[in-house]
Amino acid sequence: MGATLVRFASVSSQKGSTLCPEPLVQTSNTSLQSLNLLPEINMFPLDPSFSYNQDLQFHLLGRHLLFDELPFPIEQIHSHYLHGYLLYEKGIATSKNHLSCQRCGNDDPSLFASFACFRCKEDSCVYCRKCIMMGRVSQCTPLIRWTGPVPNVALTSHSFLEWEGTLSELQKQASKQMCGVVGKPKELLVWAVCGAGKTEILFEAIDRALQQGLRVCLASPRTDVITELSPRFERAFPKAGVVSLYGGHSELAAPSPLVLSTTHQLFRFEEAFDVIIVDEVDAFPYSFDPTLQFAVKKAATDQATRIYLSATPSKKMKRRVHTKQLEVIHISRRFHGYPLPVPEFKWCGNWSKLLKKGRIPPIIHKWIDNKLTSGVQSFLFVPTIDDLTTIHSILKEYPGIDSVHASDLDRIEKIRRFRKGEIRMLLTTTILERGVTVPGIDVGVIGADHEVFSSNALVQIAGRVGRSIGDPYGEVVYFHYGKTTAMVSAKREIKSHNQRAGFGTSR
Ligand SMILES: [Zn+2]
Ligand SMILES: [Zn+2]
Repeated sequence: MGATLVRFASVSSQKGSTLCPEPLVQTSNTSLQSLNLLPEINMFPLDPSFSYNQDLQFHLLGRHLLFDELPFPIEQIHSHYLHGYLLYEKGIATSKNHLSCQRCGNDDPSLFASFACFRCKEDSCVYCRKCIMMGRVSQCTPLIRWTGPVPNVALTSHSFLEWEGTLSELQKQASKQMCGVVGKPKELLVWAVCGAGKTEILFEAIDRALQQGLRVCLASPRTDVITELSPRFERAFPKAGVVSLYGGHSELAAPSPLVLSTTHQLFRFEEAFDVIIVDEVDAFPYSFDPTLQFAVKKAATDQATRIYLSATPSKKMKRRVHTKQLEVIHISRRFHGYPLPVPEFKWCGNWSKLLKKGRIPPIIHKWIDNKLTSGVQSFLFVPTIDDLTTIHSILKEYPGIDSVHASDLDRIEKIRRFRKGEIRMLLTTTILERGVTVPGIDVGVIGADHEVFSSNALVQIAGRVGRSIGDPYGEVVYFHYGKTTAMVSAKREIKSHNQRAGFGTSR
């Protein structure tokens, strides 16, 4: 493995002054320093006569790694540096008093800390707290990237895609449009309603890219999306050697032309992908965290095709679509061809006050009774964990009800039991607004007027209903104590998708 040092010495050689990592320093009277304290790191011209290690090339190409992440002897790594095949970069760039992490792009002063460092022996070595879960980047840590030749990828005329399914007419059109942008330095938004079947729409375009020798990454802010997509992509592209990277499963395996990754894991890449597809581009934490956006930008080449997928794009993105700065594909019809369920508004009185008194508004109580006796499974969304606890304790006598929230350790198990039908009604915070798809459910929202329910959250929640072809309808009710703009705009948006899909305005 690479060494866990590292200080550097500035030594003179035939090539002029160059830096040398601690274990390779031969004289004892050389002063060793933190990388941070050394002047500019010089880059050597590529020496074409040097016989470079192809394993190292494969391991490092398109990546931005620490010594510890490179399973090669330090002598070998360093000799590649001396011959111009790789470059050391300062992990934390300092200019005046401004710090920025070169791996994750963090430059928020509150997200740096300093410590007495055993590696560089400085009393105050600054490190980045933002990306620490991927191994510490501090002022004395070099980030290493490949600067040598890039292997020629053979173009092939054969397809990598072994998917047997078929696309609807609308999906076909979208797929064709997407194929048209692959390989071009373009941005494209795929605005597909919940249940449109957007994964299948990507297949053809990805295949096209692979045939052109392009490297493709599908990134999502959410681990559960990657774990769900990973087997589907392995089945669809069995010969592409699909690599999936997410927390707890992030070994840098053999390089692959098709990588599925959480946006977090992209910190370790640099100019690695010619096509980058970001799924759920509006989802937390991507939409709130500029360093994840930095990671996506850094992982893609300058000329990359960028494709964004969303059922509920942000206001900013919609504005770019409106002003024609961003090309868009609308997929307003679900894969099964039925319209999106339109939410119903039901006034329920001052729900918050009643809950504080340990009571559920009668109209909601009736809805719950009705669901449980009719046998229809349901999600009941509530604004806060406190409300969740209150409602669950009021309903504790009812069999078949359980509750779930973000920090619930049994979350996955409860969702599994809901899927199996053992749980009939799941009380939930907005944690289940996305991702989890269960056929044949109805959805209620208690306190839809609460501020946690943004317009996009309400659209996503409604999107849980009617997902299967066997049961394409279902009920969505927003219980409220006064309509909010978010509620009205969510309903308007759902109706306008249906209209765009040709369903008229009757509902
Ligand atoms: Zn960082
Ligand atoms: Zn240090």
